[in-house]
Amino acid sequence: MIPHHGISTAERIRVTPSAARIETVYEQVISRNPGEHEFHQAVREVFDSLPKVLSRHPEYVDASILERLCEPERQIIFRIPWTADDGTVHISRGFRVQYNSALGPYKGGLRFHPDVLLGTVKFLGFEQVFKNALTGLPIGGGKGGSDFDPKGRSDAEIMRFCQSFMTEAYRHLGDRVDVPAGDIGVGRREIGYLFGQYKRISNRYESGVLTGKGITWGGSLVRTEATGYGTVYFTEHMLATRGRSFDGATVLVSGSGNVAIYAIEKVHELGGVVVGASDSSGSVYDPEGIDLALLREVKEIQRGRIADYAQQRPRAEFLPERRVWAVAERHDIDVALPCATQNELNDDDAATLVRAGVAAVAEGANMPTTPEAIRVLRQAGVLFGPGKAANAGGVATSALEMQQNATRDSWSFEYTEQRLAEIMENIHARCAATAEEYGIDGDYVAGANIAGFTQVADAMIAQGVI
Ligand code: GLU
Repeated sequence: MIPHHGISTAERIRVTPSAARIETVYEQVISRNPGEHEFHQAVREVFDSLPKVLSRHPEYVDASILERLCEPERQIIFRIPWTADDGTVHISRGFRVQYNSALGPYKGGLRFHPDVLLGTVKFLGFEQVFKNALTGLPIGGGKGGSDFDPKGRSDAEIMRFCQSFMTEAYRHLGDRVDVPAGDIGVGRREIGYLFGQYKRISNRYESGVLTGKGITWGGSLVRTEATGYGTVYFTEHMLATRGRSFDGATVLVSGSGNVAIYAIEKVHELGGVVVGASDSSGSVYDPEGIDLALLREVKEIQRGRIADYAQQRPRAEFLPERRVWAVAERHDIDVALPCATQNELNDDDAATLVRAGVAAVAEGANMPTTPEAIRVLRQAGVLFGPGKAANAGGVATSALEMQQNATRDSWSFEYTEQRLAEIMENIHARCAATAEEYGIDGDYVAGANIAGFTQVADAMIAQGVI
């Protein structure tokens, strides 16, 4: 069923042909991409925002934009052989989905995680296309990664794996072709090894081929912080529409990786208190507020588990195998920021958050909230910032890194952070204005989907049937 947000019966009749076309294309997506549930989910969410757009813009239907957007421009799958420290040979699978280049070179991260399948990369690539459009910067969308599990691997193993990944991937990349960055399991260390191998094979110091590089060799200040900071900025703008702020707010953040850590940092800077964080083994409830220095020490230096953090905090409690939303069963919560992974916040979690008084939820991760959970939150009047908009600060700052590389320049922290803050403000304003234009005020999901979609669709039409 496609919800027709706030429109009259007469209008609904007019949009029917568009709705029917959407259903036909969606059925094709399912049958052409069997078993790729996350990809189906991501497509469904965007399609649900489009009936009225297609009835206003029949040119999108005529140019088969929906069909073209559901088929990535190129999908590369490759073998990654690598040798472990004990001499055993392992074979991982590598992916790069070059999804859409209407607005610029393919741009998007690499994820190294054992759950990565083609469908995972495809859903992330699909989301990335619209997210990148929302940044207002000239970047197309792509995503990649591997089912390699970095957990417990030595530094030397990580290096050999990254080198093997790049030995195949390099031929598909370039600063005007496709520019990967990090995602889950890929941080500055991995980007360093990947860049080294690219440079060695290509014999070019092509800084702009990867983003998230080290500060001393082409990286941008603020890139590390950008996704978490950006998510908090976006949430701040949402809260402001209701006369609220982070000052004095109680916040839950899921995850404890790069996005979560810098979201926590910014929330604390703005006067909020984050009382819970998590990893795949469980959650920590820390009523005094997360000690960020300790969390960083445990996660970034020791590469340990969240339980190790809890052990070193006398008043903190470790909740084994529980997601962080469980903390809302015993604590009032103003804001929730899912910053871990896809589908980590379901309808039961959403109901728990609503009972705890949550005013805003914003996605630092990609698609962490299930469609049913989004429905629960929206029905309860909770502000909801979708990842495409709320977590776009990371890739936006990657585009700023590309700008600095292209001009062989490097900007100060203050200037770069100011650019990031402006970009997030613009994304918020654009989503809000688009939602208003379509008569669905405050619906950031539809606002983000429609604003991203129309920009990409217009560029695709201008560039012809390719
Ligand atoms: N992986 C991040 C994302 O989901 C960043 C991508 C990038 O910087 O290219 O947007």
